[in-house]
Amino acid sequence: MEDNFDIHSNRYSQDTEREYENTLRPLTFGGFSGQDKIVGNLKIFVSAARMRGESLDHVLLHGPPGLGKTTLSNIIANELGVGFKVSSGPVLDKPGDLAGVLTSLEPHDVLFIDEIHRLSPVVEEYLYSAMEDYRIDILIDKGPSARSIQIELNPFTLVGATTRSGLLTSPLRARFGINMHLEYYDMETLTGIVLRSADILKIACNRNAAEEIASRSRGTPRVANALLRRVRDFAQVKGNGKIDKQISSYALEALNIDRYGLDEIDNKILLTIIDKFNGGPVGITTIATAVGDDVGTIEEVYEPFLIKEGFIKRTPRGREATDLAYLHLGRKRAGEQGLLF
Ligand code: ADP
Repeated sequence: MEDNFDIHSNRYSQDTEREYENTLRPLTFGGFSGQDKIVGNLKIFVSAARMRGESLDHVLLHGPPGLGKTTLSNIIANELGVGFKVSSGPVLDKPGDLAGVLTSLEPHDVLFIDEIHRLSPVVEEYLYSAMEDYRIDILIDKGPSARSIQIELNPFTLVGATTRSGLLTSPLRARFGINMHLEYYDMETLTGIVLRSADILKIACNRNAAEEIASRSRGTPRVANALLRRVRDFAQVKGNGKIDKQISSYALEALNIDRYGLDEIDNKILLTIIDKFNGGPVGITTIATAVGDDVGTIEEVYEPFLIKEGFIKRTPRGREATDLAYLHLGRKRAGEQGLLF
């Protein structure tokens, strides 16, 4: 089966992959593992909103891709017992598109806008009054006959998701009453997610194998689920259909999956610091230019994982590669030739 999820770059987009993700999406807070603090707080806010018979305050979810922002927003709607509509920043490119979505909402529905940092300024402007007063002023006609009409909306909850919270304008950010940051998952939680997914897909997968998959998943459930799917192929073709440690190690090696779960860009960042800048310290702007990505993406999407896993250190003079980074990439520090870590 063809699919476009590129495990090495943690990016995807193809219908089959989306379908696969949807079957694995937990639908209740109970099925969602990890992010304990966020989930604990959301449960309270959701119960309170239900008790008062009001809509939940608008929620902003930010954090790297694949950590469960879409999943959580879907769960919020389910737990509130309301409808769920999905859109995204780049899709809502005209005020009319936004008005169409907003007027279709039933009372207290959840509207999920993914990549909300990509809304155009004019659409964003319309969103302000919608979020604050549940109404929008739409300009109809042009020239002398142009006039504005006010449309009353049903009260609703906007859940905005972004990987780049640094790009949100402050007026938009200020309109979210609930603001939450998703963290990378620890090994144990990810192992549990792999086992749960295997169970849903009726794949026999033992704990050791699930741990192996989890450890190479960059702290990200989306990557863990994608790896499980790939390993399943190996188990079916090269093994007896069951996933154990041996077949998962074999498959992950064959797929060239990084032992620490780093993706292509992660490795490029480390190699840049080590090979081009002698291990650092080097400024983030210089790294971004060398890697060919923008500073914000490096800072918000890639660097947090590299720092968390101990590959990069942040110093006042810039970023430095750690011994672990050298070891991982098989490089030696200048002046330490022949020295093995
Ligand atoms: P995001 O919107 O942050 O990019 P998604 O919500 O689309 O991420 O999650 C990607 C995949 O990972 C989905 O298939 C989802 O089922 C799975 N997933 C994410 N978080 C969890 C979790 N906490 N428990 C189980 N599965 C999860």
